[in-house]
Amino acid sequence: MIHSAATILIVDDEFQNRKLLEALLQPEGYRTVTAASGAEALAAIASTPPDLVILDVMMPGMNGYEVAKLLKNDVSTANIPIIMLTALDERGARLAALDSGVEDFLTKPVDRSELWLRVRNMLRLKSLSDFLRDQSSILERKVQERTAELQRFRTAMDCTADAIMLVRRSTMLFIEVNGTACELFGYTREQLLKMGPAQISARPLLEFETLYDATIDGRAPKGPIEKLARHGDGSVFPVEVSRQALHSNGEWILVNVIRNITDRKKAESRLKQLAHYDSLTGLPNRTLFFDTLRKSVASAAERGWHVVVMFIDLDNFKNVNDTLGHGVGDALLTQVSDRLVQCVRLRDTVGRLGGDEFALILGMQDAPRGAEIVAAKIRVALRAPFVINENEMTVTASIGITIYPEDSSDPEALIRFADTAMYKAKQAGRNMYRFFTAQMNIDAVARLVLETALRKAIENEEFVLYYQPKVHASTGRIAGLEALLRWDRPGHGLVSPDKFIPVLEETGLIVRVGSWVIAAACKQIGEWMRTSIGPVQISVNVAGRQFVEGDLEGDVDAALAANDIPASLLELELTESSLMANTERTTNTLKSLTSRGVQISIDDFGTGYSSLAYLRRFPISKLKIDIAFVCNITTNADDAAIALTIIRMAHTLKLEVIAEGVETAEQLAYLRHHRCDQIQGFYFSRPLPVAGIETLLYDGKSLPPSRQAEPRMTMDDGLKTAEGSAELGNACLDLGTEQSESRSTSDISLRPPLQRDF
Ligand code: C2E
Ligand code: MG
Ligand code: MG
Repeated sequence: MIHSAATILIVDDEFQNRKLLEALLQPEGYRTVTAASGAEALAAIASTPPDLVILDVMMPGMNGYEVAKLLKNDVSTANIPIIMLTALDERGARLAALDSGVEDFLTKPVDRSELWLRVRNMLRLKSLSDFLRDQSSILERKVQERTAELQRFRTAMDCTADAIMLVRRSTMLFIEVNGTACELFGYTREQLLKMGPAQISARPLLEFETLYDATIDGRAPKGPIEKLARHGDGSVFPVEVSRQALHSNGEWILVNVIRNITDRKKAESRLKQLAHYDSLTGLPNRTLFFDTLRKSVASAAERGWHVVVMFIDLDNFKNVNDTLGHGVGDALLTQVSDRLVQCVRLRDTVGRLGGDEFALILGMQDAPRGAEIVAAKIRVALRAPFVINENEMTVTASIGITIYPEDSSDPEALIRFADTAMYKAKQAGRNMYRFFTAQMNIDAVARLVLETALRKAIENEEFVLYYQPKVHASTGRIAGLEALLRWDRPGHGLVSPDKFIPVLEETGLIVRVGSWVIAAACKQIGEWMRTSIGPVQISVNVAGRQFVEGDLEGDVDAALAANDIPASLLELELTESSLMANTERTTNTLKSLTSRGVQISIDDFGTGYSSLAYLRRFPISKLKIDIAFVCNITTNADDAAIALTIIRMAHTLKLEVIAEGVETAEQLAYLRHHRCDQIQGFYFSRPLPVAGIETLLYDGKSLPPSRQAEPRMTMDDGLKTAEGSAELGNACLDLGTEQSESRSTSDISLRPPLQRDF
């Protein structure tokens, strides 16, 4: 493989020698270049490297050995073959030539065929070595490229958040793992490469082998699967594994991509916790409670067991929240929940259904008795005082109980019935338990019907006001009226307040109805004021919830303004309990109302627990002795004493006293005798609709006989009994206002008559 255009550099200081060699080589097709000295040769080689150098040994300046050494020591020229020309046919010269690194030598005078042979061989050698060099540099480049590629791949593998682990099926050992895998499992790469999948998991090798074979056969389920992995420190954690089989070099490799899902699992369980457990107490919430009950009922059905559902509501919990704050309320609920959990067995369920409502699911064989035992246990458990932030408090609970299958097999109905029974326990005076009965359901349904009808009653304007006069005890004149709510329920006639006011109060509907009452009473005042009747003071009953949930002040302001009436004509009747419920807010509202001139009186006084002195904190001007004392005032010494004390104390505190429910002349006489300021009751008049009251206000003579008959008779008898005489005269409307003074008494004389200085 002689290169025909091979370039040969001839280096000789003698011109004839150079010419001779050129003459010998050129005809053979070689290209020749010449140099007359070592330095010239080096320069020529540097500019265009030849394929072969024929180098004379003996040259002035740099000799052949030196030139050869320089060329052979330089990597860029080392592979150019050199044939040394030596005239010295002796061993030493040849050895020196070989020593300087040349490939071959020729002795002068040069034999032509030997020259050709040597030149041809050298060039062949050269081209072979060139080829080898080229090949190795190609290979080297390829290796470099592959190394870089592998490096890139490794870096990419190490950069992923997922662990990548390649397993050789035949050995069941890892053959490649990335940095994440090392971190995830807590081993070095070297350690992992000596291990197999079973060592980093909680499962045996055989299972992996089976799984890998299934993956290779394409039988394994597609998509990631969740497994437990084992860390080098022995801890176990959840992972998600995606797996693929790869056929490479006649071998099966399993590529496992493993993702740590510890955080995801935590988040999932947190979500589950939030969705199913109450965050305050950690108890199952309503959703989970229902689920559990459904399951309990199903398993009880199989075993022939009973399931007892208890609905527990704390008594007066709202007071704790209102007076001590929500923080204390929350702490109390947590402590209560702890105590409830202590009362049941491990397999029973305690749930929190919301607010202060808890519920239990108890599986048992001997149902009513077992339920009674647990209910008693709960009472005992709650009996010990709770201590929260140095506040010591006691709590009682009302409990409703239903039993599967006796009461129902529907979980929702069981809870509803337990709720109904709890409600009955509350109504019966709290701190007790009640088993659900069918009658309760009938009551509950009736109540629901009533509630629905009441909601409609507001929209359909089915409420009306009746008015009952209050009279001055001394003069017998009408002092004002009390507005009393009636419900003209379609198909039922007139419904009295005790049938529906409690429902309005419990449902909160009282807030809307209450503001309607204020508006309607003020409208009535306004209308009368603009007729010859003139100004009439009306008192309106106000429920506690109106303070808390409504805008009492706003209602009053709006009603006074809309009808353009003086505030002094409106009186609000409050009960002691509604005053106590929200002291601060109530006091502020009342103060701002009284500053406008609105009168405040305490209704049903004597039934609450408040002392008169305590009530003085509120801007009150009047007390109403409860009907319960009045009705026994002449027959029961205790009640009479209470009434008397109230009157005396009220007067000491400069409060007016009114007695309600006065039905007999005896009662009237007694109250007058003890200086009660005002009287209200059937004895004078029942509550009447507007028309009736107007007649009463205008002229007693025109009162219809049905209303007049009874009170007048009683009145007459009473007057005789009390005073031994019955001096009948006109009872006059006494409003204590300038307008009333100017009115002629004959216009508005009333029957039955009461005299001023009786
Ligand atoms: P209250 O405010 O103590 O009203 C007095 C109740 O005693 C009235 O019953 C009245 O009809 C009745 N009464 C008056 N004189 C006699 C009597 O001589 N003998 C007897 N046995 N009873 C007499 P009513 O109208 O059935 O009202 C009952 C309760 O309903 C009221 O008691 C009051 O607490 C409530 N109520 C009535 N109207 C309203 C209202 O508009 N708003 C609110 N929040 N409650 C109201
Ligand atoms: Mg009242
Ligand atoms: Mg009352």
